[in-house]
Amino acid sequence: MDFKLDLLPEEKRNYNCLSELETLSFGQLRSDHMFVAEYEDGEWKNARIVPYQNFSIAPGAMVLHYGQALFEGAKAFQRDGELYTWRFDKNAERLNESARILCMPEIPVDFQIEALNRLLDIERNWCPKVEESSLYIRPFMFATQDSLGVHPSSKYIYCIMLSPSGPYYAGGFSNTVTLLVTEKFHRATPGGTGAAKACGNYAASLRAQEFAKSKNCAQVLYLDTTNTYLEEVGAMNHFHIMKDGSIIIPEFTDTILKSITSQSVLELFPNARQERIKIADFLEQIENGEIIEAGGFGTAAVITPVGKYVTDDGKEYVVGDGEIGKHTRAIYEKYVSMQRGDIEAPEGWLVQVPHY
Ligand SMILES: *Cc1c(COP(=O)(O)O)cnc(C)c1O
Repeated sequence: MDFKLDLLPEEKRNYNCLSELETLSFGQLRSDHMFVAEYEDGEWKNARIVPYQNFSIAPGAMVLHYGQALFEGAKAFQRDGELYTWRFDKNAERLNESARILCMPEIPVDFQIEALNRLLDIERNWCPKVEESSLYIRPFMFATQDSLGVHPSSKYIYCIMLSPSGPYYAGGFSNTVTLLVTEKFHRATPGGTGAAKACGNYAASLRAQEFAKSKNCAQVLYLDTTNTYLEEVGAMNHFHIMKDGSIIIPEFTDTILKSITSQSVLELFPNARQERIKIADFLEQIENGEIIEAGGFGTAAVITPVGKYVTDDGKEYVVGDGEIGKHTRAIYEKYVSMQRGDIEAPEGWLVQVPHY
């Protein structure tokens, strides 16, 4: 496929603002350009890189009525003047899994990778140089056919936008969060869209998120619809660490999103494994000290350490001493050292962005 370029002249580009921003927060800034392609008549066409700008879609665009939309999240890092992506092939494959679940067209993995690389090549100066900062990558796709009938759209837009982001934990980890274990809300149902990175899953989670906040908890730890098994945190997978150091991640079902961070940890740590975890056992093992650390895995923060769980009846379960444990730190250190390129990552995980 041809990639058309419609770029801002050098003097209109705005990346110099990065050096003036002392603290870059996550996801707030945009780079100068974005990638866009359209799906129509059964094929992807009109691939282009253009200045970051508004879309023009019909009021009847199906995404606005029936919510057919998905997204991805990945990161690029800079080292010694070169840019590197982290496992973006996995994101591209997962986008296609989500597309299948939502009856949206797939996008060839090679096409997604080339689109991203060409965009990153143009936007290299937008990658912050502060250690552990990154250029956050947000690919997404949505339905644009002007139709009020309920059926899969015949037209879509695929876009990749970039957001220069500061280190999630400036100066390293410092705090643990509290999670609410509730039977009142569920993120996903069997046979539903829980395994897709569907925008609608996030819309459906906001009420639970607000409820958690009203209970002074950061987020909800979701259970399955029978309230028996522990599932995930909504924008993160969940993990816990046993006294013997083993890392346990809930088994992937069709109600859990397959986190690339989780999958990477499973590949990197021989003592990491997946299990179906009963919430009653989990809470009991926190109380009796069998479980010593816990947290969430996801691209944005890599790890969010959890210090405490609160149940619907207000009972509190403090994990270990409630602080960040040494195993959690070790996982985090190894992971971000590989992303930085300080220690070697498995073949094909950290990929240099070509100069076109
Ligand atoms: C994106 C996401 C995650 C984290 O996945 P990563 O690939 O590690 O970023 C976990 N759960 C849900 C529901 C998600 O949407």
